[in-house]
Amino acid sequence: MKLAASSLESQVAFNESVYVSSLNEPARSGDGGMAADNIGMKSAAAGETLLVTICVVCCFVICKSSYDIVRKWRGKLDVYIIGSGPVGLTAAILAAQSNVASKIVMYEERTRAQLMGRSHQIMLDGRSVSFMRKLGVDFDNLEGCWEKDRFYTRIGIFQDYLLSVLQQRSSPEIHVHLGTKFTPSIGNSIHGSSKQLAILIAADGLRGSTTSVLGLSDEFLVLPCKAYGAFSAFERSNQPQVPTPDTRVRKLKLDLSAFGSEYRLPDITKSSFHLKVFGTFRHRYMSLLCDKSESNLVRQLRITSDPVILRNIFQESFNNYRCKGESRMTDMEALSMRCSNRLTEIKLAYRKESVAYVEMKTSLF
Ligand SMILES: Cc1cc2nc3c(=O)[nH]c(=O)nc-3n(C[C@H](O)[C@H](O)[C@H](O)COP(=O)(O)OP(=O)(O)OC[C@H]3O[C@@H](n4cnc5c(N)ncnc54)[C@H](O)[C@@H]3O)c2cc1C
Repeated sequence: MKLAASSLESQVAFNESVYVSSLNEPARSGDGGMAADNIGMKSAAAGETLLVTICVVCCFVICKSSYDIVRKWRGKLDVYIIGSGPVGLTAAILAAQSNVASKIVMYEERTRAQLMGRSHQIMLDGRSVSFMRKLGVDFDNLEGCWEKDRFYTRIGIFQDYLLSVLQQRSSPEIHVHLGTKFTPSIGNSIHGSSKQLAILIAADGLRGSTTSVLGLSDEFLVLPCKAYGAFSAFERSNQPQVPTPDTRVRKLKLDLSAFGSEYRLPDITKSSFHLKVFGTFRHRYMSLLCDKSESNLVRQLRITSDPVILRNIFQESFNNYRCKGESRMTDMEALSMRCSNRLTEIKLAYRKESVAYVEMKTSLF
């Protein structure tokens, strides 16, 4: 009986436990659903947050890059250059390589043929050569000659070469107006139309007058060189335009009586001259320099009114120091030579101002 009772108890207990467990079962499954809902809601919220974050980041990236593009565009300059001599062309190539210029506009009053025909020689020293190499000038493919690290060429050849380096570039926009003189009306049209910052560079050489058009000072900074000098040039049209290295003669002694002057000098040994013969075989140039002194010889050459004296000095000097194989200068050629009449003081002149800025009509930032 006891056994029966205990088995009954255990039965009841079992049934109770089954009942309890069956009662508990649905309760337990209700908790799990809520948790799952919670997790679902949380993950949905996290998903939303992520989506919003991604959208915000995307918006930020798009806005930032558009802002940068616009800012870069607005931050760029229109570059106007007046004169395509060596200085103007170098400025244009530098501007083109800078990534700052949105467009480059150049005005040159000479035609291309006139530019190419410019006859005098220019010399680039070692520093200028390495600077120009960085800008893309291939000296191995440029007509000229070397003397140590110096390169000599004819200015027309050099300008034509720089012009082609510039025009080979596909960007930025480059407009070269050859045969177009920069005038006040062109200047006004730039001022009127510029929608972004523009700079105007006056590279119009020593005799140019565009600084006044640009509202810049037309003054020069003049540096005396403590030297006197004279210059001569003559042309032999039957000779090639091949540049020659400079011939330099130091401490040249002159006796004016040998050059058609009555003046015999007591202090001839005190004054010595530096002679330079340069140019191409067709276009020959000579310069004569001496220290600034008040010796009788120098004074005589400074005040002389007789143009024949310097002409004779240059003719004689050329015939003494001409290149190997080059023919002598005849008296007829000497007569057609352009030549200083007297020694004048040598000065270096730099423009005080050569760049003008045009402000934007409207400002975005
Ligand atoms: C006879 C001579 C011999 C020389 N010999 C040597 C030498 O042996 N070695 C040496 O290193 N240097 C020499 N030089 C100097 C050398 O030529 C100059 O240093 C050089 O040309 C200066 O270059 P630039 O670009 O400043 O001016 P430039 O070469 O004078 O160029 C200025 C340009 O601006 C143009 N221009 C002017 N006004 C306007 C305008 N309103 N509108 C449009 N275009 C305009 C002109 O047509 C010109 O092409 C010599 C110069 C001369 C005159």
